Amino acid sequence: MNPCDPHVALAPRPGVADPLPAGATRWAAMELPAPGRPLQRVWRDRLPTPGPGQLRLRVAACGVCRTDLHLLDGELAFPGHPVVPGHEIVGHVAALGPGVSGWQLGERVGVPWLGWACGECAACLRGSENLCEHARFTGWQLAGGYAQQVLADARFVLRLPPGYSDAEAAPLLCAGLIGYRAYAMAGDDVQTLGLYGFGAAAHLIAQVAVHQGRRVFAFTRSGDLAAQRLALELGATWAGGAEADPPCALDAALIFAPVGALVPRALHVLRPGGSVVCAGIHMSDIPSFPYAWLWGERRLLSVAHLTRRDGERFMQIAAEVPLKVQTREYPLAWANQALEDLRAGRFAGAAVLRC
Ligand SMILES: [Zn+2]
Ligand SMILES: [Zn+2]
Repeated sequence: MNPCDPHVALAPRPGVADPLPAGATRWAAMELPAPGRPLQRVWRDRLPTPGPGQLRLRVAACGVCRTDLHLLDGELAFPGHPVVPGHEIVGHVAALGPGVSGWQLGERVGVPWLGWACGECAACLRGSENLCEHARFTGWQLAGGYAQQVLADARFVLRLPPGYSDAEAAPLLCAGLIGYRAYAMAGDDVQTLGLYGFGAAAHLIAQVAVHQGRRVFAFTRSGDLAAQRLALELGATWAGGAEADPPCALDAALIFAPVGALVPRALHVLRPGGSVVCAGIHMSDIPSFPYAWLWGERRLLSVAHLTRRDGERFMQIAAEVPLKVQTREYPLAWANQALEDLRAGRFAGAAVLRC
C-alpha cells in the first residue's frame, strides 16, 4: 500500500476501534495523558449526559490537525489533566440537554475549535469572539473528538453542507475554516496568492481561490513532489519548494506551516501593499530580516481561531464550491500513527480518524 495514495482507508485491526453498536453504552476515547507521551485508548462505561445547552454527539469522524501536534509537543499550555484532542468533529446528535432547541436527534453537525465564548467580555462585545479572554477550545480545554462520544455547546456547533462524506466534512471544520479566515483577511484585491505549506488547509483554500478567479502559487517542503502535484491538479498556477521565488510578485501569502523562517521568505516575494497572513497557532521563531522587505506598506498579520460567523460563511462556500477533499483515513485507535504521519508529511491532504 502506498501511504501517499489519497482516499486510502487502513483496515482496522481486529477488535480495535470497532464501531459502537446501537444501544451500547461503552465507548472509547484516545487520551493524551501528558505532553510528550503517546495517546492512550481509554474506555468509558457510561455515556456522557449533556448539561443545559449541550448536545451529546455520536462521533463519526474527526480530523487530525497540526494544532494537535502542538498540544502533544507541549507548545500549547497543557490543561493539567488528561485531554482528548480533536477539533474537527463530525457527529450525529444523540441526546439534547435541557433548554436545547433547533437541533434534531440524528442530525449531522460539526464541532470546531472554538467550543465556547463568554459573550460578555470586551472582545465578545465587539464581535471578536475568537479573541474572547475566557474562550474554551475543543480538544484542549474541552474534551475533543478523538472519541466515540462528545459533548458540545449547541450554540457553537455548525450545520454541515450536504455532498461531503463524514470524513470529507471533518477537515472543513478547521483546515477549511481557519484557511478561510486567513484567506479573507488577505483582502478582496488579491489576484496572486501564495500558500506556504500545502497540506490540509491549503489544499482546500486553493480550490476556493481558483474558483474565485485568483492565481495560486503553492510552496511546499523542498522536494515534496506529491504535494506540488496535488496543488497543480487542484488548479494552482505554479508549485515549487518554499525557498523558490515565484514567477511574479504576490499580492498575498498565507503561511500554514509552523516555520518562522517562512515569514521573511514570504515578505520577500510580496508586492508593495501586500499581506502575509500567519494561520497557525504556534510557529518557530521568526529570524531577523531587512526592514526593506516590510517597507512599502506590506502587512504582516496573524489569524487566531475562528468565529461562528466564519464557520457559517465557510460552510456556505463549501456548499457552493464542490471542494475535493483529499483524506487519509485511520481508525480511531490509530490516532498516534495519524499524528506521526502528519508530522512526517507522509500524505497529501488531511488525516481523518473514523470513530
Ligand atoms: Zn485545527
Ligand atoms: Zn468573551
